[in-house]
Amino acid sequence: MTDISTKTLSLQEVRELAKSVLVAAGMDDTGSDMIAEIVVKSERDGPRSHGLRMLPVYAQSFTSGYANPAAHPTFERIAPGVLRGDADNGYYQIAAAAARDELIAMARENGIAAFTCANSHHLGALRFDTEPLADAGLVALAVVNSLSMVVPQGGVRPVFGTNPMSFACPRDGMEPIVWDQASSTVALMDIRMAAAEGHDLPRPAGLAPDGQPSADPNAILETRSLLPFGEHKGAAIAFLIEVMGAALAGGTLSVDNAEREAHGALNVKGGATLIAIDPTRFGNAGFNDYVTRICSEIEGNGTARIPGDGRLKNRAASQAEGVSISTELLTQLQDLR
Ligand code: NDP
Repeated sequence: MTDISTKTLSLQEVRELAKSVLVAAGMDDTGSDMIAEIVVKSERDGPRSHGLRMLPVYAQSFTSGYANPAAHPTFERIAPGVLRGDADNGYYQIAAAAARDELIAMARENGIAAFTCANSHHLGALRFDTEPLADAGLVALAVVNSLSMVVPQGGVRPVFGTNPMSFACPRDGMEPIVWDQASSTVALMDIRMAAAEGHDLPRPAGLAPDGQPSADPNAILETRSLLPFGEHKGAAIAFLIEVMGAALAGGTLSVDNAEREAHGALNVKGGATLIAIDPTRFGNAGFNDYVTRICSEIEGNGTARIPGDGRLKNRAASQAEGVSISTELLTQLQDLR
C-alpha cells in the first residue's frame, strides 16, 4: 500500500472547504449549502468515497456545462400518490429536498407515495436520500440509475449503471435503520479510491482487459466493466433500478451517455425514484415491534450486525475526532477554490 500523508479536518472545516469549492464552480448559495452538507455527511458517516473525493467531479460537472449549478427544480402532483419532479438539470438532492414536505404529506394521506425525478444528476450516497423520511417516521426506498458500467450476467459489455438502492425505516427509541448499496460488487468510487491508495480490492469486482474477473482496481478502470453483486441476482436488481429510476422518471438510461461524453463530463445524468410509506396506514399496529424483533434476532448473532449501523459508529467517531484527508486531495481541493 502507498504511504499517504494526511491532515485531520473538523466537520465544520469540511463544510467550509466543500462550500468554497462548489461556489467557485458556480453553484448558488442554496445549492452549495445542500451539496456541501451531503459531502459533510459522507465524511461523517461514510461512505467517504462519496465525500470530499467527489468534489472535483461536482466542480467539473458545472465547469463543463453538463450540470446546472443554479438549478430551480420543479415538481407536480400528477396522481394521488405520484409527485413528478424535474431537477432543472441540477443535482437530484436539491429537487428532493424541495419536494420532501409534500411527499411526506402525500404518504401520510395515501399510505404510500412516490417522488420520481428526471433531468437530474446524482453523485452521492443514497442513504442521505432515505434517512430524512425514516426520521419522519416513514419507511423509504430509493433508487437511482447511473452510467452503464455493470455487465449483465454472462454478457460482454456493460448495460446497467452501478445503480444503487437505499432502504430506511424507523426503529423504536433509536436512530432509524438505513442502508444503501450499489448493484455492482464494489462502487466505482471505491475502485478509484483503491487505485489512488495503491491496493487491490478485497475481492474480484470487474473484468481485466483479458476478460477475466480481477481485484486489481487499475485493470478494472481500464475496462470500466464491473461485475454485479451476487451474479444474476445483482444484475436483476440493477435491471429493476434501470426501470424504476430511468424509465419511471423519464430520466436518461445508463447506456445513453452521448450528452455526457459531448461535455467531457465525469458524472452521469439518470433518473431517480423515492418511495415513502407510512407504516401507520398499513393496518399493523405492531409494526415497530416487528422491526425490533427482527433486529433482536440479528444482534448478538455471531458477528452479524444491523445493516447500515456502521454509519452510527463512524458518525460518533468523526464528530469527536474529525476526519482524516490525504494532503494530496486537500491541495487539489484548495486549488479549486
Ligand atoms: P457497501 O457494500 O460498502 O455497503 C452496503 C451497505 O451495507 C451499507 O449500508 C453498509 O452500511 C452496510 N454494511 C456493510 N458491511 C456490513 C456488514 N458487515 N453487516 C451489515 N451491514 C453492512 O456499499 P456499496 O459499495 O455497494 O456502495 C457504496 C456507496 O455508493 C453507497 O452509499 C451507494 O449509495 C453509493 N453509490 C452511489 C451511486 C450514484 O450514482 N449516486 C452509484 C453507486 C453507488 P454500514 O457499513 O454503515 O453499516
